[in-house]
Formats: sequence, structure tokens, C-alpha cells
Amino acid sequence: MALIVQKYGGTSVGSVERIQAVAQRVCRTVQAGNSVVVVVSAMGKSTDGLVKLAHEISKNPSRREMDMLLSTGEQVSIAVVSMALQELGQPAISMTGAQVGILTEAEHTRARILNIETERLVRQLDEGKVVVVAGFQGVSSSDELEITTLGRGGSDTSAVALAAALNADFCEIYTDVPGILTTDPRLVPDAQLIDEITCDEMLELASLGAKVLHPRAVEIARNYGVPLVVRSSWTDEPGTWVTSSRPQGRSLVNLELARPVDSIQFDTDQAKVALLRVPDKPGVAARLFGEISRQNVDVDLIIQSIHDGNSNDIAFTVMNPILKKAEAVADAIAPALRSHPSKTDEAEVLVEKDIAKVSIAGAGMIGRPGVAAKMFATLAEAGVNIQMISTSEVKVSCVVDAQECDRAIAALSQAFEIDASPTTSAPLPHNAVCGVAIDTNQSRLAIRHVPDHPGMAAKIFGLLAQYNVSVDMIIQSQRCHIVGGIPTRDIAFTVARAEAEATHQMLQQVAIETGWGEVILDNAIAKVSIVGAGMVGQPGIAAKMFTALAENQINIQMITTSEIKVSCVVSQEQGVKALQVIHAAFDLAGCEKFVVPA
Ligand code: ADP
Ligand code: ASP
Ligand code: MG
Repeated sequence: MALIVQKYGGTSVGSVERIQAVAQRVCRTVQAGNSVVVVVSAMGKSTDGLVKLAHEISKNPSRREMDMLLSTGEQVSIAVVSMALQELGQPAISMTGAQVGILTEAEHTRARILNIETERLVRQLDEGKVVVVAGFQGVSSSDELEITTLGRGGSDTSAVALAAALNADFCEIYTDVPGILTTDPRLVPDAQLIDEITCDEMLELASLGAKVLHPRAVEIARNYGVPLVVRSSWTDEPGTWVTSSRPQGRSLVNLELARPVDSIQFDTDQAKVALLRVPDKPGVAARLFGEISRQNVDVDLIIQSIHDGNSNDIAFTVMNPILKKAEAVADAIAPALRSHPSKTDEAEVLVEKDIAKVSIAGAGMIGRPGVAAKMFATLAEAGVNIQMISTSEVKVSCVVDAQECDRAIAALSQAFEIDASPTTSAPLPHNAVCGVAIDTNQSRLAIRHVPDHPGMAAKIFGLLAQYNVSVDMIIQSQRCHIVGGIPTRDIAFTVARAEAEATHQMLQQVAIETGWGEVILDNAIAKVSIVGAGMVGQPGIAAKMFTALAENQINIQMITTSEIKVSCVVSQEQGVKALQVIHAAFDLAGCEKFVVPA
């Protein structure tokens, strides 16, 4: 007999017929000899309806009352799903988050789960009942017993956290698509089903806005080794398994507050090649990395910050043994990128041998302001200057002087209480690219002319953390400007659009006080990304993405990478097109077309 947690999303419980179908599936699972905990979302789009209602009454409703209001949606679902089960003769009982004992922080509208008291729930299961739990909600562990919610889409997180706490055999997420697809089928109808994906890959995809799974749910599945499958509510197809290696028993205390950083990696065998002042127009990155991949040179980090005037700097890192080859390719291609052969100040090639890459990685940094800031502050205190920064949702990598690497990792190990290990870059037996995603809810901020000395990144991102602003992509440019005799660099990053305006104003004020340059805000951006564990050690993956964009006249405004992801910022109006052409370029399309139910 297995213990299974089944979660049904809004569409899956969107009508009387669908609720009855859910009840039937639950009954079949019980009849097959299993114990079942059901987690449900609010019916259909009723949470959106409640949000709308609140905004009709108040422009700025308090977070506490929003939780009070939104948590009612799930309460409706648990009652009617239990009734439907009872109608079928299946004993069932509904329980709110508070009744179960899903204890959270007192952070309204985005609470993290601290602990789940499972006794009451287990007692009901032992009596042969199906327990129907309200997703998305909990109760604060403080004396006030405040009703909290976990953030939009949070029922997935409730389900996986329950599966971890109950040590369930697996957790099934039932939704309105057949599983995890290569991209959002609403934007690319010929997206294909993925049979299996690793938690690391899914984390990158989910945090990019592939909303089929809440990233925090993936994080818990990975940290606690919960077997997880995403399946269609309408069929019996197997769906997509999200796999993880089973970790050694992590404590269930502070379930979602487990260490935000769980590894520190370094690589001292790297060298940096930069092409300075190349034209800011479609096709440049494609040409450069196309040639590099034709020469079979595998690049690691790729970084392009925002343009400066009408030119960009593109920098990348390679392993030291292939530096000569990489440099030769850059030298060979540089003249073609100049407006005139005599203009040797354009497309200048710069090589730096003695660099090291130090990274912090961990699912817990998603949406948690301050983790990157802590890394930068730690490096600053150790007197280590950061030459380049590149981030993904679950990783921050800094390029530093090789001589400073030991000092950097010693300081980081101490700050994050974790040992450092060399980066292993063995390719995994996976598709190079398993999925493509788009995020259109971000804005880009850039601060010009920030003095290039230790502590500046720490200051900026520390400030943002203090204002509770979560930062996504962070890019520190290669180019140095001498302002008032001091070398300066531009730092660009993206934040959630809802927070962009206020962040812009705050930074403008600070820039005046500290003498930084202009702070620029751009709301009209989209971020498109490719993800795949198999891109490690496979030259040409980034080049293929850049080529697809170039062939469609889509200009790349910024680039950042991690080992398993490449992200490009493009203009918002070209975002969906960019997603579609990249999806096609990697042959991810299938012949089947998915129609997503309304
Ligand atoms: P639920 O209410 O079941 O939680 P959601 O609407 O939250 O469902 O998530 C499912 C939706 O996620 C799908 O209808 C699809 O439009 C969207 N989606 C985005 N990216 C992907 C992807 N890579 N694979 C599958 N679905 C995706
Ligand atoms: N009902 C909540 C929402 O719409 C939670 C969820 O569906 O996961 O965001
Ligand atoms: Mg959802």
C-alpha cells in the first residue's frame, strides 16, 4: 500500500463535472489499495476573481486581508470535493491549512512553510478517510494564528511539502496539460511532452515562469527527494516525472527555510575573452559564437550587459587549455565586426588568463532577496574585486582574479557555512536543451558608472535586499569607463515589473548621494531562456540560440548563462516570437498540437 499525495489545480476542479471526475480518480486510487491525501486549488479562476474584487474596494488592500480573502477560494474546493467523495461512498474529510497544521512564517501573501504537524492528518488517514487539504494556505506559527498564503500558484508547494512531511511514496500534480512541455503550449501550440526532467532543470524552467509547477514545490521535491509527477486531469497518460537523487534525511524543521545556498563551487582553470565595442545589432553574438562552435570550442559563461552608446561588450570564459584557440577565433572575427578596417578601437579583443570562477548555488535563493548581496558583501570584506557577474535563478557566479580565488572561497565557505568544491563539468546523458521559457514580467534597471572596487555590488544588492526587492538576472559589464580618474563599470539587473518603479526611484536617490551615473529603467523587455543539463561540454548550443534570434532580426540586449541555461533579454514586443523561433531551432516541436482547456 502506498501513500500518495494528489494535487488538483484550478481548472481540474473548475466545474461540477470536473469535481466529480476528480472524486472518481481519487476513489480508483483508494480502491487500488492506496492511502490518499488530496490537495486542491480554488475552483477555476476564482482566485483571480477575488483579487479583482479586492481591487474594486481598495487600490492597496492590506496583505493580511488579502490572505483572509484569497484563502476562502480553496476552502470552497475542499468542501465540495469531500462531498463528491462522500457521494461515491468514500469516507473523506476536508481540512484547511490551519486545521492540518501547515505552519508558516507570518509573512502575508508570500509565507514560507516552516513545519507541518502531521498527527491530525495521519489519524484521519488511519481511519480510512481521504483527507482533502486546502492548498496555498497555512497558519502563522506565532501566537496570533494568522491565516497566511504561500503566493500565487502555491498549491503545488503545499502538496509537495505535505508529501515530504508525510514521507509519501510520491506526489502527483494533476493539471490541464499532459505534463511538462518543452514550452508554454498557450504560446507555442506544437510544444512537446517531456517524459522526464531533473529537478535542477525544472527549477531553472519553473523559476523562469513556466507556471506549470511552482518553483518552491520543485525546490522541496529536490531537497527532500520527493518523487514528483505532473499529469493530465483528463487522461491516464503517464505525464512527466521530475527526478531527484534522494538526499540523506534532511530535517523537516524549517522546511522551506533550509539553507538558501547548498553548494559553493570554484574553477581556477578558466580564462576570459572579451570583445569590446561590437555593434549593438542583431547577429553579432550569433556570428561570434557560431564561429567559436565551428572550431569546437566549448564556452562556459557568456555575459553581455546593456549596450553603451551603439555598441556592446561580449565576454565569455573558456577552460585555459583551449584559450589559444578561442582567442584565435575572436581575433579572426574581430575585423569583420568593425565599421572600417582602420577603426581598431572597435571590436577590440581582450584576453585575461588568470581568472577564476566562484559560484554559489541553491534553490533556496529564488525570490529571497539578499543571498546574492551576501555573496558580494562577503567578497568585498575579503577584499576580492568582482570582475564579472552572471546569474541564473539558482546560481550566482563571479569572475575574480585567480590569485584571489582561495581567499574568496574561504570567505564564502565561512559565510554560508558550507565547504567549497571544484566545479564538475561532466556532461549528463540528457538532451542538450529540454525546455524553453519566457518571462515577460520583468523590468531592467541599469546603473551607469559604478566605481570598480570591492564592495560596490555588495552595496547595491544589499540595498535592494533591504527594500525586499528580489533580483533576477544580474550582469556586471566588462567595459570600464574612467570617470573623474576612477575606473567605473555599469551594473544591470532585472526585477519584477511591479517593483521596478519604486526601485528605480530609490536607486536614483542613492545614485545622487553616492555619485553614481544615471539609473535607467526599461519596462519593455522579455527574457527568453533555454534550459538543459546536456549543454555542459557541448559546444554550439548558445550559438544556435543566438543564430535563431539573428535570423529573425531580434536584437539581443543582454546575455547571462549558467552551466545549464542561457538567457537573453530582448524587447518585449519580440518576446513571443523569440520564444517560438528558439523552440523551433532546437527541434522541440512535435506533430501533436495541444489545446489548453479554458
Ligand atoms: P493549475 O491550475 O493546474 O495549477 P496552472 O495554470 O497553474 O495550472 O499551470 C498549468 C499551465 O501552465 C498550462 O495550462 C500552461 O499554459 C502553462 N505552462 C507554461 N509553461 C509550461 C510548460 N513548460 N509545460 C506545461 N505547461 C506550461
Ligand atoms: N488558487 C491559488 C492561485 O490561483 C493557488 C493555486 O492555484 O495554486 O494562485
Ligand atoms: Mg498552478
